[in-house]
Amino acid sequence: MSFGLEKCSRMVTKRGKVVRTEGVSLPEGTIADIEDSYKYLGIPQANGNLELATRKAATAKYLQRVRQVLRSQLNGKNRTRTINSYALPVIRYPAGIIRWPKEEIQTTDVKTRKLLTMHGGFHPKSSTLRLYASRKEGGRGLVSVRATVQDETSKLHEYIKEKAPMDDVLRQRGTEDEALVEGPSWEDKSLHGMYHRTITEVADLKKSYQWLERAGLKDSTEALILAAQEQALSTRAIEAQIYHTRQDPRCRLCKKAPETIQHITAGCKMLAGKAYMERHNQVAGIVYRNIRKKEHEKLEKYQGLREELERAWKVKVTVVPVVVGALGAVTPKLDEWLQQIPGTTLDISVQKCAVLGTARILRRTLKLPGLW
Ligand SMILES: [Zn+2]
Repeated sequence: MSFGLEKCSRMVTKRGKVVRTEGVSLPEGTIADIEDSYKYLGIPQANGNLELATRKAATAKYLQRVRQVLRSQLNGKNRTRTINSYALPVIRYPAGIIRWPKEEIQTTDVKTRKLLTMHGGFHPKSSTLRLYASRKEGGRGLVSVRATVQDETSKLHEYIKEKAPMDDVLRQRGTEDEALVEGPSWEDKSLHGMYHRTITEVADLKKSYQWLERAGLKDSTEALILAAQEQALSTRAIEAQIYHTRQDPRCRLCKKAPETIQHITAGCKMLAGKAYMERHNQVAGIVYRNIRKKEHEKLEKYQGLREELERAWKVKVTVVPVVVGALGAVTPKLDEWLQQIPGTTLDISVQKCAVLGTARILRRTLKLPGLW
């Protein structure tokens, strides 16, 4: 028999205090005292769990992984998904076993948002609640450290509750239920939720936010468009009327109307001729290109049908309105309209094009720093 000495170490405690020893001498060598801790199921222990060390190590590793994700080439949606599935589990694993003070959780969430902001992925004045709301509901779908710790803790409580009747040790341990606190929602906030409440009345909410799920945009573009929706960007009207850092609220380009997001994205006379037209043509281009391609295929494939089609096209004209809001809002009928156009024009590609066009106009007009 031989001992795996490198896997052995010894710790002796007397009345709760760790005592140094000479180790255990064996013919093959010595089993020495542990340095400062050993790991049991991944949690460092010595004289009890080393909670502070565990939390510090987990938090450092979590933040290191967040940074790693933010340096990657992933798009916005995949960045949040990767943080959720690659960085947060580092916190989740020990969270159910050791105590995690609220202040530390809060600090780590703030740090995460600061890192996002540094990389252009979160506007500092944008809604924090919305950052953590699901993409289906118009949020960014990030999971907070707070939600992770809370979820892991309550799941473990549930498990203990369920097993307690069959287990003496668990029954003695008992469970203290921590009440889940439901926070306020971003939709109800007066400024952050204003756009959302407006489009609720006129647009298809689910469709209006589907670009967040399906367009695959960079997170800096997502952050910019959401900040625009939330009135979080510093336009001259916001600077004059809300922050009082400026006297004149009028548009820097036309000097006619107050410079609001609505004005810059869709109402400025100075932008109408070129910028809006460009965006409009790009959106129309998607529809057009598809028709052209399909037209070509059809002509080659169905030579016999050609004459008949041409004749039919001369007399039968249908107007198909394709309407997309500057910030992505679409009507419930958009899909139906698009289906009337030959070829397959996906509503998401039309919407993506409009949102990207708006992002370009906002970046140019507000002279936003590179990241945005
Ligand atoms: Zn203007």
